[in-house]
Amino acid sequence: MSSADKLFGRLLNRHPPPQQVAPAPLSVRSVGLQVHLNAEGQVTHLTGPLRHALAQQLPAAQMPHLLELLMPHSQLAIEGTPADWQGQILDLDFYSLSGHPLQLRGWVQPLADAWLLQLLDIGDLLLERQQARSREQYQFLAAQIGEQLRRCSLTRLPDVLMEQLQGLSQRLQTPCVAIALLDEQEQGWQIHQHYAAFDAPGLWHNGQRLGTGLDSLNGSAPQHLPPGEHPRLQSTFGNAEGFAVPYHDAQGVAAWLLCGSYPVQQRAPDVSERDWLQFAAALAGPLLERLREHRHHLQLEQLESLQDLLGAGWWELFSERDEVQLAPSLAILLNLESARMPLHDWLDEIHPADREELNSRLQDLQNEGKPLLLCVRLAHAPIWYRLQGQALGVGTHRRLVGFMLDISDIKNQQQHAAAAHARLDNLIASSPAVIYVQRYVEGALQPTFFSDSLLPLLGWTLADCAAGALAERVHPEDRDRYFERTRQLLREGSVRARYRLRDSHGDYHWLLDEAKLLRDDLGLPVEAVGLWLDVTEATLAAEQVKQSEERYRILVEDSPAMICRYRPDLTLTFGNRPLATYMECSPEQLPGMNLGSWMSQQQRETFLQRLGQLSPEYPVSTAEINLQLPGREHAWWVWSDRGVFDDQGHLLEIQAVGRDNTEVRRSQQQLTQSAKMATLGEMATGLAHEINQPLNVMRMAIVNVLKRLSNGDVQVDYLTDKLNRIDAQVQRAVRVVDHMRVFGRRSEIEQHPFNPAHAIEGTLSLLAEGMRGKGVDLRVSETGFEVQVRGYVDQLEQVLINLMVNARDALLSKRETDRELKPWISVYADRDQQSVRLWVEDNGGGIDPRLLERIFEPFFTTKPVGVGTGLGLSVSYGIVDNMGGRLSVSNSAEGARFCIELPIYQEDQITR
Ligand code: ADP
Repeated sequence: MSSADKLFGRLLNRHPPPQQVAPAPLSVRSVGLQVHLNAEGQVTHLTGPLRHALAQQLPAAQMPHLLELLMPHSQLAIEGTPADWQGQILDLDFYSLSGHPLQLRGWVQPLADAWLLQLLDIGDLLLERQQARSREQYQFLAAQIGEQLRRCSLTRLPDVLMEQLQGLSQRLQTPCVAIALLDEQEQGWQIHQHYAAFDAPGLWHNGQRLGTGLDSLNGSAPQHLPPGEHPRLQSTFGNAEGFAVPYHDAQGVAAWLLCGSYPVQQRAPDVSERDWLQFAAALAGPLLERLREHRHHLQLEQLESLQDLLGAGWWELFSERDEVQLAPSLAILLNLESARMPLHDWLDEIHPADREELNSRLQDLQNEGKPLLLCVRLAHAPIWYRLQGQALGVGTHRRLVGFMLDISDIKNQQQHAAAAHARLDNLIASSPAVIYVQRYVEGALQPTFFSDSLLPLLGWTLADCAAGALAERVHPEDRDRYFERTRQLLREGSVRARYRLRDSHGDYHWLLDEAKLLRDDLGLPVEAVGLWLDVTEATLAAEQVKQSEERYRILVEDSPAMICRYRPDLTLTFGNRPLATYMECSPEQLPGMNLGSWMSQQQRETFLQRLGQLSPEYPVSTAEINLQLPGREHAWWVWSDRGVFDDQGHLLEIQAVGRDNTEVRRSQQQLTQSAKMATLGEMATGLAHEINQPLNVMRMAIVNVLKRLSNGDVQVDYLTDKLNRIDAQVQRAVRVVDHMRVFGRRSEIEQHPFNPAHAIEGTLSLLAEGMRGKGVDLRVSETGFEVQVRGYVDQLEQVLINLMVNARDALLSKRETDRELKPWISVYADRDQQSVRLWVEDNGGGIDPRLLERIFEPFFTTKPVGVGTGLGLSVSYGIVDNMGGRLSVSNSAEGARFCIELPIYQEDQITR
């Protein structure tokens, strides 16, 4: 305690000093102020050194009252006369010359006839007390700031810091206050947080970079910064007066408390440097601590999440205790109960195959500090870890630390890659391909590598293919090609060639050689990498295909049949020589011609309809087609088409083989015609009767008319009647002759639809009279329905005539033996959805069952020579068959029964 404090303490004691021990006036006089007063309180004179400090010097003549020397508030402190003041401590402020009150303390003591007011200066004491009090307050404030910052949660830290800055600003009346910390790279200062009073200039913002200007200041004491004196800090303090207080930690200045627009001396005279340093420390100390804590916290979090993500974690080995400590996350990953365990427990977690090696490596680390790097498997799960460890520090501070990293992914990939590699090697080794490398040596290429497949493929090894040996193995015919391959490879950088190589058994293989030349940075050849593919089979197969194609080509060309290919629109794409010859052109002229142009509209439609029926399931169709070749007769071809379809079943093209059937057709026609003529001839007797009948009638009429005429008894009505009868008979004869003329004509070329009933009518018109004349009963019924069949009406008539004439012959020959016979022929028809049947039945006794099978054969007859030709039924059979129908026979109870079955023609029906 200073002497001033002692004195101050005594003064505070407030007990007036006992009078008997009052100090001798002289000694006091030398230090303070002695005011001599009369009984009324008027100053008689002044002594003591302080009297010179008083504002009012006492003039010798006047005796002012003590009150006149005192400042107003002290005037109130005393009243009455000095005698009243005795025994009191008087604190009195006098006017002084300096303008500041002169603070004095004293007491009155009686002198012989007057009073002496003894006063001492207590200004220093009061100031000191004031300062001590504010220091106490400031300390309290600093402590509070520190505590607030330390206590709050990390999230509230910025708010709390702001509150503290605000409090400080208000308390110290600093308009702008901020705390600056080193920035993240520690290369300069940065405003961490600032507060500005509402009327203060906006000097700073949070996060503002200040550069390194503050480093130029003395970092051990608060710095008063008058404007202009620190050019590097001008921008920081905005050219106004500033104040910067440093905060030190172990590394040096760690923070600055900045006060802006602040003439510090003027505003806070009682805040000492120490107080300022304390404020800076109270703010920055806990703040930095909390920020470090925050950073640490973040790092820990990052580390933990990193470890989690990587499946990794650190470990530490305590060798003296043979214990291991693992990162908590690692312990969880490994399913361990605790993160600290004896070393052997940890080793138990490692797969037995790797355990021993790990143990030995750990020993090396422990004993020699040899860094550890090992990949190990876990004992209980198919997981791979990479284990790394090192020794940190030396001596007693040495620590053995490391980490474990889950590398199962990489290991699995490695294993897959190794397996794939092995598979690839295996594949190459067993495929008909050889990979080779040839090194470029002075313009030549020398084999330096072959894949393992060389041996199984050609039976050689690399040694067998030493320089020059390869060329010898090339087939003599292919050597030129082989040398050209090497020249081209060197010239162009890549090549593709095909040649034969001899294997160890002496057999030749066709090899497809594809090679590429690799060059160095200067563009000089280094080596050639290539592939031999054994294409022997393919080459031979191609050769065979070529040969067989040639054979087929010759076959097609030389075939007597017409062979062609055409598109669905009937355009020819190919035609062989016979077809061309038929068409009177060359085979080259055939493509582009249209098959349809040789057909009539109807023929073409029929042809296309038939093609429309082709399908992938039934791709073949055969038919006899009829063509109209310009300037020639009709041609008949037996034509077989095969459709070629794509995957969707669309018809792409048609391959066709055809044979000219015209001659056969023509002879068939001739046969039919001669059969018809024969029929006519046979019918001559019947026809004579047919024509005789009307002639007889006419003759009778004419005889009768002439008789009447000679009698002169001719009436017009009678005459008219006879003439009409004659006319009707003439017409009847004309009809018969007409029909015979029609019937005798050749059939038309093309088939037409017609009603079969017309054929029955035509037949009856020729035969009916004759039959009746022979006493045969003709029964015709059920023929009048509307139905159409396709073919030739005259030919069907020919068939019916044949059947009826045969029936008549059978009846007549039977009547020769059986006079009682009542011969009849029955003609009738029936139909269903598909076909119409015409029946011709007689009671002539039928056909010998043994002959039933043979009667349709040509030239089969049971009639005497010169009577039967044996052609009637066989030609009839052919006619019905040509119409798509069937002629059949059976025996009924009384005779034979023939059936002509014909398909019904429908408009939209496809016919052949
Ligand atoms: P052709 O009449 O010249 O003999 P066809 O071929 O017409 O030749 O007849 C062959 C044979 O079939 C006849 O010779 C006859 O024996 C037998 N035939 C045909 N039709 C009948 C029938 N309705 N009743 C009995 N036999 C018949």
